[in-house]
Amino acid sequence: MTPAQYNSDEARWNAVSENNSSANGVFYYAVITTGIYCQPSCRSKLPNRSNVEYFTTCDEAEAAGYRACKRCSPTATSRVEKIEQKIIHACRIIEESETSIKLDELAMQVDLSPYHFHRLFKKIVGVTPKQYASRNQSRRFQNNLKTSPSITDAIYSAGYGSSGSAYDKNRDQLAMKPKVYRKGADGVTIIYGLAQCFLGWMIVAATDRGVCAIEFGDDSDTLPEQVQARFPNAQFKKADIGFKTLIKEVADFIESPKDTFQVPLDIQGTAFQQKVWEVLRQIKPGETISYTEVAERMGKPNSVRAVASACASNKLAVVIPCHRVISKTGKTGGYRWGTERKKRLLESEQERT
Ligand SMILES: [Zn+2]
Repeated sequence: MTPAQYNSDEARWNAVSENNSSANGVFYYAVITTGIYCQPSCRSKLPNRSNVEYFTTCDEAEAAGYRACKRCSPTATSRVEKIEQKIIHACRIIEESETSIKLDELAMQVDLSPYHFHRLFKKIVGVTPKQYASRNQSRRFQNNLKTSPSITDAIYSAGYGSSGSAYDKNRDQLAMKPKVYRKGADGVTIIYGLAQCFLGWMIVAATDRGVCAIEFGDDSDTLPEQVQARFPNAQFKKADIGFKTLIKEVADFIESPKDTFQVPLDIQGTAFQQKVWEVLRQIKPGETISYTEVAERMGKPNSVRAVASACASNKLAVVIPCHRVISKTGKTGGYRWGTERKKRLLESEQERT
């Protein structure tokens, strides 16, 4: 399934001329000269293209005065098939939409109740409509990268960050995580840029999947090496001008952290680390919890040390807020980028909330 399939006259005509059964249920074609409408896969004689018109549902075709073809019986599809077709149609709507669509609205468009729609979608597709939309957006981002002049352009044209209100704040951003955790980022190209922020120098690095590192330092010269040490096998490249918007977005986020960061992330880590980081991302600005509490929230109360070590391995400063984890006694505790920075970050977040 590719986005924008069968939404042009051209694509629909091609499906009809190829008797393409995967287009069944997505649309119907009617022949002006015979007054009959068919499924795209119908084996009847191919009509003259200029005599064909298209409909999304049988009802629409019938309302326009057409009768169902006896050969392919478009209305006789079984109930199960009809539901499948509705869900497929919903997938197409999601794929073709540039912004997120509310569940109610999607359900209405395929003529199901929101409750049934959600349940049937999950059953047939295997993920929820929201997860499907999120994956689709990631895919679009990756496709855009091949054609966009810069990562920032790709991010924006995929719809990320272009309008905060258009996206669900709890959207699953881990959808961007690599299928396979590649140790040392073998064969991966990492682009980076530097900027100053209230915590000193900052480096932002990104792979073609999203931002993979945000780190701080006192010296702009040594920062690239610091990140390179985390991804020893990756290829490093300094970014062009196109990276500026992305860096600004990160700097703004660090200045005043919100609940979610709109830019896609490439979170590379072991399964355990990723679980820890997921818990950290639930801690809101202005809140702090202890390492013990993180372990408890994960359902692994005995893994406090492993939790602390996963916090220390975090490569995405502030976006994965490891600074909000403090020692049980209430002391600030360690921080990869210096205790002083951790203190200043926490203070600035306290002031804001
Ligand atoms: Zn037919």
